[in-house]
This record gives sequence, C-alpha cells and structure tokens, in this order.
Amino acid sequence: MFVSDCLSVNEKGHLTISGCDTVALAEQYGTPLYVMSEDKIRDTCRRYKASIDRYYGGNGAPIYASKAFSCKEICRIVTSEGLDLEVVSGGELFTALSAGVDAKHIHFQGNNKSLREIEYAIESGVGDIVVDNLSELCRIEKISAEKGVVTSISMRIKPGIDAHTHEFIRTGQIDSKFGFALETGEAFEAVREAVRAEHVELIGLHCHIGSQIFDKSPFVLAAEVMLAFYNKIYAELGKKLTHLNLGGGFGIKYKDADAAVAYEDYMNDVSAAVHASCEKYGLTIPKIYIEPGRSIVGEAGITLYTVGDIKTIPQVRTYVAIDGGMYDNPRYALYQSDYTCLIANRADQPANFKATIAGKCCESGDLIQENTMIQKPEIGDILAVLSTGAYNYSMASNYNRNVKPACVMICDGQSRVIIKGETYEDLIRNDL
Ligand SMILES: *Cc1c(COP(=O)(O)O)cnc(C)c1O
Repeated sequence: MFVSDCLSVNEKGHLTISGCDTVALAEQYGTPLYVMSEDKIRDTCRRYKASIDRYYGGNGAPIYASKAFSCKEICRIVTSEGLDLEVVSGGELFTALSAGVDAKHIHFQGNNKSLREIEYAIESGVGDIVVDNLSELCRIEKISAEKGVVTSISMRIKPGIDAHTHEFIRTGQIDSKFGFALETGEAFEAVREAVRAEHVELIGLHCHIGSQIFDKSPFVLAAEVMLAFYNKIYAELGKKLTHLNLGGGFGIKYKDADAAVAYEDYMNDVSAAVHASCEKYGLTIPKIYIEPGRSIVGEAGITLYTVGDIKTIPQVRTYVAIDGGMYDNPRYALYQSDYTCLIANRADQPANFKATIAGKCCESGDLIQENTMIQKPEIGDILAVLSTGAYNYSMASNYNRNVKPACVMICDGQSRVIIKGETYEDLIRNDL
C-alpha cells in the first residue's frame, strides 16, 4: 500500500512504521521527528550481504555509504550486519570511529580531502583511501613517507558511463568532479604513478556512476569497463589488483510509480558480467564491493510533522504549512525530488486533496512537495513524508536558526531516541 514494506495502517486508521503508531510517536516525542526502522535497515543489509555471498561466494562486501545518514547508531547497526563503511570527510570518519567501527573496515573517499583529513585517515588505519586525483596521490605518498607507512589506496575511475535517473549515457568525457578519466589515458597514467610510488599500495579500483538508478544495464556496462581496465593494468604494468568497488546508486521508491529493481536482480546481472569478463581475460575474480547508501536507509525512514496553517489561494493552490521544511529536508528545494506525503492520523482515508507542502523557512522555495495528493488536512494533523531516511538528516541545516529534529529508531515494536533533538543552547554553542 505504501512505498515501503515497513509502513502500514492500524485499526485506528493511523500510519504505522514497523508496527509503531506514528501518531503516538509524534505525541510522545514531538514534531518534527525523524523516525527510522531498525528492522528494515537490518533486513536490507542482510539482503545485500546475502547477495554478495550468493553471487561472489562471499568474496567481497557491501559498503554502506554513510553520507546517506551518518550517526553513531546507524554506523553500529550496519557494521554489526557485516557491512563496511564509506566516509567522505573527517567528520564522517570521526563519527564511525566514535561508534566503535574497526578502521580496517572504513574506506575514505572524497574529491578534495584536506591534508588534515588524509593524515587523520592514515593515522586511524583505514582500510583504504580512494584517490581522486594526481595531486592527492602525491600528498598521500608524501604523508605516508613522513610517517614511515605504506598506505593502501584504490583509485576512483570515471568509467565513461553517466547514469542519471531513468537513463544513462556512455561518454568519454564525463563532466564530473570525481576521479580519473579512462578514455583520455589519465586513469592509466595515474595508475602507473601509483604503482611506482613507494609508500602507497594500490589494491583496487573504484567507480560510482550515479544515484537513484532504476536500470540494470549501466551497472553491467560499468562492471565490464572496469574489468577491462583492471586487465589492462595487469597486462601492461604487471600489477595485480585485488579489489573492485562497483559503487552504489541503486534506486528506491519515493512514489508508488517508482519501479525500483530488487537488489538481487542487480547482483544477478552484474555478477554474470563480472564472471564473464574475468573468464575472458583469465583473471581471478577480485574482491567485489558494492557501495549503497540511499537504498540501505532511504525507505526505512519517515519524517513526521504537525500541520499548521492552511492557505488556499483561489484558482492557484493550497499551501499546507508544516513545522519543519528545508532545514530538515532540503531535497525538494535543491532538486525537486519526489516524495509521498500523507496525513498520518487519517491514513486510511482517500488522498483526494491537492496540497503544496510548505516549510517554515523564509524562502518561497522552502517546499517539500508541490500539488501532491493527501487526505484533507486540518490544523494539528500529523503529516508524514515517506522515504526520508537518506539524505535528509545528513543534509539538514540550522537555517533560520531552526533546531534539527530528534531521530527515533524503531526495533521490535519499541522506540528509542538515537539522536537528541537540538536545543536553542546548541545553536549558540560556538557563538562568541
Ligand atoms: C554517494 C555515493 C555512494 C552512495 O550512493 P547512493 O545513491 O546513496 O547509493 C556510493 N559511493 C560513492 C563514491 C558515493 O559518492
């Protein structure tokens, strides 16, 4: 009935998440409120893990791209399911380490890592640093030499496949700030440099072709292109790599019409391509990593708000104002992302009222969704926005000095706070 299988409606007509009444949650914890289902997150992690086991004989691992939702408890949950973690900043690394994650299972990414971040990653002993460009490679080599260590690295490659939502294009020159281009020879030259460098050990290659992708073919093509390059490195430089990270980007359901492909289907097709390519080149199958972020946490989360004023502009539209907005979810304001909205306390009623959901920030673009169908709203109703588990809390801000909402985790029908809501005092903590 709803976009995620952890959502349902109870006998009171209230929306539930993993068996918990969302209206009761809103009452207990206040709104706005992020709510996440631990049951759903764990289930998704297990499905990814099972598919690596099934299709690659366990030789590899799913890596959770923690930028989708980085906090200590989510780091603990996903790593307890056997996933590695990807971080793209010192702050995400600090969060993961503070959660007790073993540094060996952390992969450090990013297109402009600061010196301090590189030092921090090396000192912490992360599993590998994914190198984005040549000057960064030099910096990592230099810092490793100074510290007298050999740092494991992978290289971020642009495989020439640019996958946007619902479509993909194959190009030599992707206009992207991330990584080394393959077709220009830049990637090969960088690999040559990395192999020559004394204080780095090149262990693998990495690619990530986009996000919210529903099509299997760009992933298959990327795997083929990456293995061809993998083989070229062995054939021409005699360097045998051991890891291949095929990135994340698996699409999730925001609206009912979204045709999300089951993860197992991706794994099935991509692993067939990996096996075929390795056979063709006579390569041992490398350790295969996939790196989902959105699909681990996205559908496991919802946001609850209280409906405030309702403003109908005749012949134009009806604005339904909520007690949150772009400060807790900037995604519609940023790129008009789709969401399903509903009145949680009348979730069993037909959604026959056209509403534009407006936040409380001083920006006319502060909207959560425009002209979307919800149950007829009244002041004081609880409005739920679905599939907000990814890139909501992690992109939240304090614009207009709004405080970031609390996050509650649901497990076995019980709720617990995993992130406290901010207070006004938090807002001025660093003010002098
Ligand atoms: C963002 C990102 C991911 C995760 O992407 P999703 O679309 O959230 O699955 C994985 N790898 C890299 C390098 C990324 O930048």
